[in-house]
Amino acid sequence: MEERLAIFGGKPVRDAFLPYGRQYIDEDDIKAVVDTLRSDYVTCGPKIDEFENLVSEFVGAKYAVAVSSGTAALHAACFAAGIKAGDEVITTPMTFAASANCILYMGGKPVFADIETNTYNINPEEIERKITSETKAIIPVDFTGQPVNLDAIKRIAEKNGLMVIEDAAHALGAEYKGNKIGSISDMTIFSFHPVKHITTGEGGIITTDSAELFEKLRMFRTHGITRDSGKMIENDGAWYYEMLELGFNYRITDIQAALGISQMKKIGKFLERRIEIAERYNKELSKLEELVMPFQDINCRSAWHLYVLKLKLDRLKAGRKEVFDALRAENIGVNVHYIPVYYHPYYKKLGYEKGLCPNAEKLYDEIITLPLHPSMNNTDADDVIDAVRKVLEYYVK
Ligand SMILES: *Cc1c(COP(=O)(O)O)cnc(C)c1O
Repeated sequence: MEERLAIFGGKPVRDAFLPYGRQYIDEDDIKAVVDTLRSDYVTCGPKIDEFENLVSEFVGAKYAVAVSSGTAALHAACFAAGIKAGDEVITTPMTFAASANCILYMGGKPVFADIETNTYNINPEEIERKITSETKAIIPVDFTGQPVNLDAIKRIAEKNGLMVIEDAAHALGAEYKGNKIGSISDMTIFSFHPVKHITTGEGGIITTDSAELFEKLRMFRTHGITRDSGKMIENDGAWYYEMLELGFNYRITDIQAALGISQMKKIGKFLERRIEIAERYNKELSKLEELVMPFQDINCRSAWHLYVLKLKLDRLKAGRKEVFDALRAENIGVNVHYIPVYYHPYYKKLGYEKGLCPNAEKLYDEIITLPLHPSMNNTDADDVIDAVRKVLEYYVK
């Protein structure tokens, strides 16, 4: 072990920077994309249906609608849920801004409910506390890939007539009490951004068992337009279509769907590799007294999108910033997930203030995300472990 931290001019644990997340693309993926470029369709062709069928079968849902991003999926789900101006929707602050922005897109009001201190997921009791006569939906987030308490959330939703839109951008392949995430909530959204479990470059999908929601999602993806004569008010002829809703162009392309199909063939391997790396971290890092390990609910199977460590700051001479900077100097691409959504200036302008969700705010000061993705080898993982040990040994009280 080096005597000095790289931040003070010592030799870093790694020569090359290791990012916290990245895509895994192989020759089959490249061939799938190229074959599509040579085909008749580059968008809105057969690959989209095939991709949707693969994902809906994998998660065990009746329907899936693929769109241009996870954010578009959240927007479409809020539209299908009928969120209107003035409606309140409850979500967690410990997430990417898109989980709350989608409520604003519909003119609704994001209401933040605080998190549990062990899972870091939204606390069902806090959801109940935030329900008013204006509440229409709940957007829980399976933070890091660890499923939320879906039994409790569904019970609250049923009791209060609320729709559940599960943001499972971290949780493709996760399981809750033996059922795959994507088969449980009214609607579940996934993201195919390159750091997520599979990628289509940009892309997202909504899964649901409801034929009615499925129809709304499909229409929203294409400008709110229908060509189904059963739904049209008039029908002037074979060329005719009608715009019934104010939708968007949120379509995904056949090129992207072809990549998605090829990636889905590897989802089992991707998940396995993420679990292996997480277990390697668990085994070694749990020996360090300065850390709180990621919580694992025995009723669930995490999809391990993120590996989030909590620092016991009272045992350290330095704060999270020093530990973070020192790990970066060792060429470990640590990150922080997340800045509480309402800390962002846009939300502050809307009137949200610090103090709203104390558990999320405290957690934000203590967390660091370690690199975790399927293209990491064991040496990469061991470098991360060595760097964490080195930095904590340096800063321990
Ligand atoms: C990645 C992510 C999104 C947004 O997905 P995009 O595909 O990047 O639009 C939404 N919610 C969460 C929790 C995410 O991690």
